[in-house]
Amino acid sequence: MEIRTFTGGGFGENAYLAVCEATRSCVAVDPGSGATELAAAIEDEGLDLVAIVLTHAHLDHVEGVNEVRRMAPAVPIWIHSDALAMYRAVQSQAAMFGMRTEAQPEPTDEIVPGEPIAFGSCAFEVRFAPGHAPGHVILVSPEDRLALVGDVVFQGSIGRTDLPGGDLRTLMASIREQVLTLPDDTVLYPGHGPATTVGHERVGNPFLVPHYGGELA
Ligand SMILES: [Zn+2]
Ligand SMILES: [Zn+2]
Repeated sequence: MEIRTFTGGGFGENAYLAVCEATRSCVAVDPGSGATELAAAIEDEGLDLVAIVLTHAHLDHVEGVNEVRRMAPAVPIWIHSDALAMYRAVQSQAAMFGMRTEAQPEPTDEIVPGEPIAFGSCAFEVRFAPGHAPGHVILVSPEDRLALVGDVVFQGSIGRTDLPGGDLRTLMASIREQVLTLPDDTVLYPGHGPATTVGHERVGNPFLVPHYGGELA
């Protein structure tokens, strides 16, 4: 599995294209403002887009769903049921930030943690990781030692918990139980900023390391 990153937008959000090299199938994850370039890459390289998958429903990670759908009108849209209400309210989310956005197409498939999302000969294991946003999931490929973690954890930081449905204790539990249980060499691709690894964050993330007042023992 190869991960390609498309960054854009006022929030500098990362959209990801997960490509199964053996079959040329791919999955678009969190298409925000980088969706135009992401869609172009799919077309230019003749990849087979199998699904749009959303780790959570914040504006910056879903505002490009329409853009991808224009290129692939029938492609399924996957989201956790707890994230649906927020997804449908994308226009009021935009208004909160003094922005405007178009409504996004209705999701077609429910993400169920524990049930894998397969594409070609590749698959993501789905882990439930709420706390930053309702219905937040992370997508793990144990075989490829990588995970798309949305806004759960970043290089040197963690997701904000002051938006509706956010909760710091829940987020810390998600990081402890769903992220730090992965092997140290697992590469983490977050919703903002550069990729990092589980090992790097375990020893260096000030929100996690007890020495700096972080919450993890
Ligand atoms: Zn978010
Ligand atoms: Zn974000």
